[in-house]
Amino acid sequence: MTINQSGWRPEAPRDGADATPATFTGNKALMLEEPLIFELGGSDRTGVDLPAPPSVTPRLGGLERARPIGLPGLTEPEAVRHYTRLSRQNYAIDLGLFPLGSCTMKHNPRLNERMARLPGFADLHPLTPVDGAQGALALIHLVGTWLKTLTGMAGIAMSPKAGAHGELCGLLAIRAAHEARGDARKVILVPESAHGTNPATAAFCGYAVQAIPATADGRVDLAALTARLGPDVAGVMITNPNTCGLFERDMIAIAEAVHAVGGYVYCDGANFNAIVGRVRPGDLGVDAMHINLHKTFSTPHGGGGPGSGPVVFSEALAPFAPLPFVEEQDGRFVLVEEETASAAHHEQAFGRMVAFHGQMGMFVRAAAYMLSHGADGLRQVAEDAVLSANYILRSLEDVLEAPFAASGPCMHEALFSDANLAPGFTTLDIAKALIDEGFHPMTMYFPLVVHGAMLIEPTETESKAALDQFIGALRSVAERARAGDATLKAAPIHAPRRRLDETAAARKPVLVWKPAPLADAAE
Ligand SMILES: *Cc1c(COP(=O)(O)O)cnc(C)c1O
Repeated sequence: MTINQSGWRPEAPRDGADATPATFTGNKALMLEEPLIFELGGSDRTGVDLPAPPSVTPRLGGLERARPIGLPGLTEPEAVRHYTRLSRQNYAIDLGLFPLGSCTMKHNPRLNERMARLPGFADLHPLTPVDGAQGALALIHLVGTWLKTLTGMAGIAMSPKAGAHGELCGLLAIRAAHEARGDARKVILVPESAHGTNPATAAFCGYAVQAIPATADGRVDLAALTARLGPDVAGVMITNPNTCGLFERDMIAIAEAVHAVGGYVYCDGANFNAIVGRVRPGDLGVDAMHINLHKTFSTPHGGGGPGSGPVVFSEALAPFAPLPFVEEQDGRFVLVEEETASAAHHEQAFGRMVAFHGQMGMFVRAAAYMLSHGADGLRQVAEDAVLSANYILRSLEDVLEAPFAASGPCMHEALFSDANLAPGFTTLDIAKALIDEGFHPMTMYFPLVVHGAMLIEPTETESKAALDQFIGALRSVAERARAGDATLKAAPIHAPRRRLDETAAARKPVLVWKPAPLADAAE
């Protein structure tokens, strides 16, 4: 083990044949180790040359800081290197294929970024009077119109800031619609395969969540759903295409049954990429659906955002949609901020979701994406995304069990399970070995209805060559796991960190840096 100048220790190599010899620095060729910035820069140093502050008479009543603030002091090159080295430890869509299922990690065209940085959009103050913001309002209106057209829906709320926020918006509109009739319903039905945000949103709105089982072919069990319906059911939350990568063929029958008991249909539209331009959810009886602009409409995501989750509404729910909204009146765009200002569609608005209009930068990116693809291009997005996923499904189903392969073609994502692996080998081993192959792992253990699930969404932006390389890597790893190759258990062996104790990291995260104990720090 090496202790370098700053007192920071690179990770010790593990025992065993797979261990690569340690280097003095902990670096592995171009893969550079990097300590915390506090370990790197002592608080006794500084990278800038500031004059001593003039003496002032404190007016803080004795509350002024008595000790140094403890910020690390780095020279400019040290600071630049620190952040550059950290950035190299990220996996990114600009580096390689990102197979995370349900996330639609597609390439983000640079044109979008150029447009979002136009000063007229980027520097506009949210309180600019509407006469000075006509271009921005026109753009919000344009994106909203495209989304309503693509989904076949009557109303839209542009302001929600992510998918989960959109779910909240949709369920608050459903609740407002029931309350307006004096009908305090208590139950929301959610399929077992739903994304965790669905039951969380329903519970947050005060509803009791009840699970709807799936059929053996991975879809919502229509008979079980209809059997559970009744006057206490406020609505259902259905993901279509669902998280098993399958189209819910019974969607119209589901919607008719829910409407017959006075409930509403919320559709989780996170998977819209598979059907955009091909299917209009409004034609399937959906009452509210969020659209993750940061998935289907390409804006970058991961690493914490930003997101944008506009919600489209049916005729029945549109009057309850939140404020504010943009409207075109006599060739001008107005921002309707109060319930009384306009009767059109929002006369019973349930309130606001956010202080201002939503994520303007995301709207600009989505508009650039829509306009550069055109309607025919967006349809091709869905077709190519589905083709890519089916290519992966059919190329690997001989080595990995594909639980719903018999249910017909998949939509935009391919689902595999750990059923075919040698005893003791799991989905985790496959994911860790993919890191050694230079890929971000797929989504693991989701959806929960499939044991050891591996959910792979290649998106339409990968070339056949890139898909073939990924398929080759996954095939090689899967064959090792089927053969019981013990070296797989050590993976990843080429990564800067090996297998971490993920449970401890989640349960006992170390979020505060503490200076090293004196014995270590003394030099
Ligand atoms: C991504 C996703 C969500 C949540 O969207 P966020 O923008 O992350 O809040 C909900 N449901 C499904 C199926 C998703 O894939």
